[in-house]
Amino acid sequence: MTLVSPHSERYWSEVETWPRERIREHQLARLRRQLEYVQAHSPFYRSRLAALDFHPGDLRTLDDLRELPMVSKADYVADLAAHPPWGSALAADHRDVRRVHFSSGTTGKPAPVCWSAADLDRWADLYARTGYSQGVRDHDVYQCLFGYAWFVGGLGGTAGYQRLGATVIPAGSSETERQIETMFRYGTTAVSGTPSFMLHLAETAEKLGTPLTGSAVRAIQVGGEPGAGVPATRAHIEERWGAKCYDGYGSLEFQPIAWECEEQAGGHLMEDFAYAEVLDPETHEPVPDGTAGALVLTHLDKQASPLVRWWTGDIVVRDSSRCACGRTHARLPGGVVGRADDMLVVRGVNLFPSAVEQVIRRAEATTGEYQIVLDREVTDPATGYLTGIKLRVEVADGTAPDFADRLAGELRAELTVRCLVEQLPRGTLPRSTHKTKRVVRVD
Ligand SMILES: [Zn+2]
Repeated sequence: MTLVSPHSERYWSEVETWPRERIREHQLARLRRQLEYVQAHSPFYRSRLAALDFHPGDLRTLDDLRELPMVSKADYVADLAAHPPWGSALAADHRDVRRVHFSSGTTGKPAPVCWSAADLDRWADLYARTGYSQGVRDHDVYQCLFGYAWFVGGLGGTAGYQRLGATVIPAGSSETERQIETMFRYGTTAVSGTPSFMLHLAETAEKLGTPLTGSAVRAIQVGGEPGAGVPATRAHIEERWGAKCYDGYGSLEFQPIAWECEEQAGGHLMEDFAYAEVLDPETHEPVPDGTAGALVLTHLDKQASPLVRWWTGDIVVRDSSRCACGRTHARLPGGVVGRADDMLVVRGVNLFPSAVEQVIRRAEATTGEYQIVLDREVTDPATGYLTGIKLRVEVADGTAPDFADRLAGELRAELTVRCLVEQLPRGTLPRSTHKTKRVVRVD
């Protein structure tokens, strides 16, 4: 077993504070090496590079990577179907694959993603970096509340916090009462899990008469679903636990992607692990910092299931300025702000339903329920392009009659697109316990 120790009191790894220029140099050198690796070991990438007559040595700048095609989940799944069961993107010999996790499989057959021994070691180290940047140390007791069966989070958290030296309780995401009892009995100080399970635990503990504000927990790392990126949800968790809540963002394919430090100013990308591009979802041209775009990732040193220009479909806003914590790796303030599939283009303006929702939630007279309706009134008949959006918004009883006009004005000012607002009485719009359909297309 490798013995590891942190770089300093403050940072797990010296990589975290490299000057931006050094990060870029590292990325370029690693990208060249990684492209050589996938060309030699992955039939999927070998044929793609050959088709373009692209040689890893052709990569002279980071921008040159854009000559390569992006890979989407659909491409990956199609390759699995053509080369069952592991796919031709696998770049390690089977004897060298140590672990496989699967996608959740809600939209098809679960897709496998593999790790070599070196990949697992790297993963544990990166995850240790996240916990360490949130103030977790070797004297802490960490209770891992992510699921273990099939899900990627449980083993990731366990290996990472073990690496940083904490005492790990691999608890999982069931048996709520036992979790709470364990937390109090063994003095748990750090936890991780999904935001919804965190809220469920808090609620149950309150019902049992032992609110979690009375526990020793001070650091909560959440992931697996949006949560800490939403200010209201974060505040809710922090209040009910009496602890700091940090947003984590990862995917099956990239573990981890970005995790918050103690400043809670947006997750830091792991820029020495994955090269990140933020692109306009329509044109695929890079967007500047501060502009929402789709995140595209390339592994810099993954062996078993390496991905080159992976289209995450997640919309993020990047900030490459130095964080107050001293780390130089870029951050994603607000976490994942939307999905590329949900984006609307209105007269050349990219609009995400989440941006509309923010304005509506701020307007006090609504019930928070709304629908975005795309019909003929907001569509150019000649081109079929959107000229604006129409909103149906439920209002609370006794709302002023000019509410719709005022909201339309606020939306126009904020989103710079034409908005028509129709106000509906409370309880008119359909409710759903799962994901509510917010965008409705009417021909
Ligand atoms: Zn920071």
